[in-house]
Amino acid sequence: MKVAVPKEIKNHEYRVALTPTGVRELTGRGHQVSVQAAAGEGAGFTDADYQAAGAHVEADVKALWQGAELILKVKEPQAEEVARLSSGQTLFTYLHLAAEEKLTLGLLESGATCIAYETVTDSRGGLPLLAPMSTVAGRMAVQAGAHSLEKAQGGAGVLLPGVPGVSPGKVTVIGGGVVGENAARMALGLGADVTILDKSIARLEVLDDRYQGRIKTVYSTADALDDAVRDSDMIVGAVLIPGAAAPKLITRKMLADMQPGSVLVDVAIDQGGCFETSKPTTHAEPTYIVDGIVHYCVANMPGAVARTSTLGLTNATLPFVIALADKGWQKALADDAHFLPGLNVHDGRVTYQAVADAFGLEY
Ligand code: NAD
Repeated sequence: MKVAVPKEIKNHEYRVALTPTGVRELTGRGHQVSVQAAAGEGAGFTDADYQAAGAHVEADVKALWQGAELILKVKEPQAEEVARLSSGQTLFTYLHLAAEEKLTLGLLESGATCIAYETVTDSRGGLPLLAPMSTVAGRMAVQAGAHSLEKAQGGAGVLLPGVPGVSPGKVTVIGGGVVGENAARMALGLGADVTILDKSIARLEVLDDRYQGRIKTVYSTADALDDAVRDSDMIVGAVLIPGAAAPKLITRKMLADMQPGSVLVDVAIDQGGCFETSKPTTHAEPTYIVDGIVHYCVANMPGAVARTSTLGLTNATLPFVIALADKGWQKALADDAHFLPGLNVHDGRVTYQAVADAFGLEY
């Protein structure tokens, strides 16, 4: 199969959809891989790395798209990329269509087959192509929050591990899913005093068992949130209610109960944020202060660590990419009940219920 890997064009997107390792896997199976010139630059892969793995490096973006049967990307196609897509082509990437009507209509018009990373499932009920990025964001959350606690960033001047004779800082993580567990692990590794709040007793049981009391687990209620606000040096927001906006769990009024210079890291900002005072920020200006409390609300956290994020993402996508290239999309999806929910658009029709419902389109 002819596989193409364009350079990502979304603002500040440095990841790439296939590494030289992935190219080698595909070319070793007899597939032809074209990689756009400089596509891997932001993630630390040179054109020479791709060539050594057997890829053709293509400088002409038009020729790259036109010659492809399977197109691999990271971010949803931007307007000029949608215009390049045509019927008979398969696109495999993050799409998040339920929030993007214009993009959905553009993909329908293209006639292409569009498979989304984020709706592929696994046998444990998880989202295996979303989880690596939640892992990255969770781990980064504490790194970013610890930096924000420094005086120069407007923080309280607290060092999370403390020092001998001085208590460690207190970190509360709201939501103990993939992001939350990874944030808590990082905070624990730094020597902080860590508590996780969750609404799911089953999830708290797993965490309690896994960390054997080294991380405190608390059922998430209004009282528990009041306690967290009073006691924490850092609160990480990591809740998710699938398909819905994040609930506002900490109101502006509650900020008055926090110690000045405490830090809120709202990882759930991509779903609207779980603190009332959150608004999306960028890596260029990641924080701002409201009522003396430092807010970190970067919506695309994995972008800052593009190399790790690329390696984590492509490890997860590669088996699916190989299946698509070896078998073609029809057989690859038919053979794998967890890959099938990835199909969002085919031949001018929406093939994913939630996307059809979002825009009143035929399913
Ligand atoms: P997840 O489904 O694995 O975990 C969410 C957890 O929140 C679940 O355990 C759920 O029980 C819990 N929860 C729901 N409502 C709650 C409440 N009221 N109180 C306490 N817990 C509650 O989801 P995830 O993969 O960990 O993602 C969490 C959020 O992080 C999502 O909004 C996701 O989109 C976002 N995210 C952001 C970035 C970024 O760059 N900012 C990157 C990756 C993920």
